[in-house]
Amino acid sequence: MATESTASKSHISRAAGRVPAAALQVGRWQARKLATSSEPYDAVVIGGGPGGYVAAIKAAQLGLRTACIEKRGALGGTCLNVGCIPSKAMLNNSHLYHQAQHDLKGRGIEVGDVKLNLTQMLKAKDDSVAGLTRGIEILFRQNKVDYIKGAASFVSPNKIAVELLDGGSTEVDAKNIIIATGSEVTPFPGEGLEIDEEQIVSSTGALSLKEVPSKMVVIGGGVIGLEMGSVWSRLGAEVTVVEFLGGIGGAGIDEEIAKAFQKSLTKQGLKFKLNTKVLSAEKSDGKVFLKTEAAKGGKEETLEADVVLVAIGRRPYTKGLNLEAAGVDIDGKGRIVIDDQFNTTAKNIRCIGDVTFGQMLAHKAEEEGIAAAEYIKTGHGHVNYGTIPAVVYTHPEVAWVGKTEQELKAAGVQYKIGKFPFVANSRAKTNLDMEGTVKFIAEKETDRILGVHIIGPNAGEMIAEAVVAMEYGASSEDIARTSHAHPTLSEAFREAALAAYSGKAIHF
Ligand SMILES: Cc1cc2nc3c(=O)[nH]c(=O)nc-3n(C[C@H](O)[C@H](O)[C@H](O)COP(=O)(O)OP(=O)(O)OC[C@H]3O[C@@H](n4cnc5c(N)ncnc54)[C@H](O)[C@@H]3O)c2cc1C
Repeated sequence: MATESTASKSHISRAAGRVPAAALQVGRWQARKLATSSEPYDAVVIGGGPGGYVAAIKAAQLGLRTACIEKRGALGGTCLNVGCIPSKAMLNNSHLYHQAQHDLKGRGIEVGDVKLNLTQMLKAKDDSVAGLTRGIEILFRQNKVDYIKGAASFVSPNKIAVELLDGGSTEVDAKNIIIATGSEVTPFPGEGLEIDEEQIVSSTGALSLKEVPSKMVVIGGGVIGLEMGSVWSRLGAEVTVVEFLGGIGGAGIDEEIAKAFQKSLTKQGLKFKLNTKVLSAEKSDGKVFLKTEAAKGGKEETLEADVVLVAIGRRPYTKGLNLEAAGVDIDGKGRIVIDDQFNTTAKNIRCIGDVTFGQMLAHKAEEEGIAAAEYIKTGHGHVNYGTIPAVVYTHPEVAWVGKTEQELKAAGVQYKIGKFPFVANSRAKTNLDMEGTVKFIAEKETDRILGVHIIGPNAGEMIAEAVVAMEYGASSEDIARTSHAHPTLSEAFREAALAAYSGKAIHF
């Protein structure tokens, strides 16, 4: 640990002995002078995930002298290293493999024996991850963000101790701090279900299985469980999803879309056991035997699996931060408590992303990162939580923004619905990819769009149009009267708006 006198020499003070250059990349990259302790950093961000690294870049762009502390050894957090990016690489490539096996022939493309080279598929995923994480280091350099590789821990509300990855330690002083330490996998409470990342895996292990399991059981029918279940099902595993609730897709999905989604995945070969509780597991003869029962009690069943994926959610991560030293409070669920400007209970310490309230999504964390930096610099920031989209990157994709029908019913809001199926869309028909629907929900009296729910090809890209529309307070008539290029999938989007606004689409 640095003493007061060493800390006072420079803002990043080298503690007792040598601090390897690699751990403190600021010196190697930039010739600029380090801040002095009488002139601390304007902003220090703890955590280099999508929340933290974006906050750091934005803060630096706003002219704040900024550092970001990350202990993983790579930037990008959960999202780039073990989340969004590697899962999408596996989803995309497993989809191509599945198409080559089952779909190309019908399009007049005859290929020889289609073989899976899993090692190469995993390498392709790792290459995407490595390229993107290195890209953030370049962005840090370009924006003059100091990247400190190590684990941060509060000494006081404006002093952070860092255990450097390459050995040694240092202390960092800051006028403002943003905590962005993210989340970790929620372990399963049942007996015998400790994650070993080989037979009983979290999403992290499921992204790197060395071989395709014959049988895989996924505990949890939320987004991550369904995406990873789809990957391994396409690669040849028999996948069973066990879900405690009566539907799949997790929180926020429209029930009608969730039913269509389950039907589609069932057609693809996934099996579902809904309203079912996993009790415990036992390993024997290289297999895992999972004991389950009906969620309401009663009927018991044992499921056999080569690999079990535990995908029951994630929880905020604050281990080792020593929040008490800073006076930062957490709530009963381990989330850092913040107000509507991301202020924690400690002055000049803000918090964003998975480690605090709200949806655990990379783009939500990014929005908050930008807003938190803006609050520091200008006193103003903006995040519209009503227009944060959600996407499931299966095939077909599922995407939504705004309210679901069940939420509006519960709130007693009068609404109208417009739907358009992709089977009636010329581009979807041309692409032989017609499964799914666009569903618009608009306020009955004003026609203002309240929610858009899509299952279908390219839903994840298409939902951006709904987000923009809702940000601008658009009506379904606004969309219906906006020209959409022909032939595109987005015409289905317009037609659904037309159906909501006028009661009738043109092509259906
Ligand atoms: C399999 C999977 C797939 C996902 N897919 C998607 C998707 O498609 N789209 C989407 O929007 N979201 C997706 N997510 C969720 C997304 O990854 C998270 O919402 C997002 O990463 C949260 O960003 P964050 O910056 O808050 O935290 P994180 O990304 O978790 O980053 C926090 C960082 O802080 C570091 N850290 C923690 N403590 C310290 C400390 N004391 N000192 C220094 N560093 C520290 C950690 O090492 C970590 O790198 C997925 C998640 C998983 C697991």
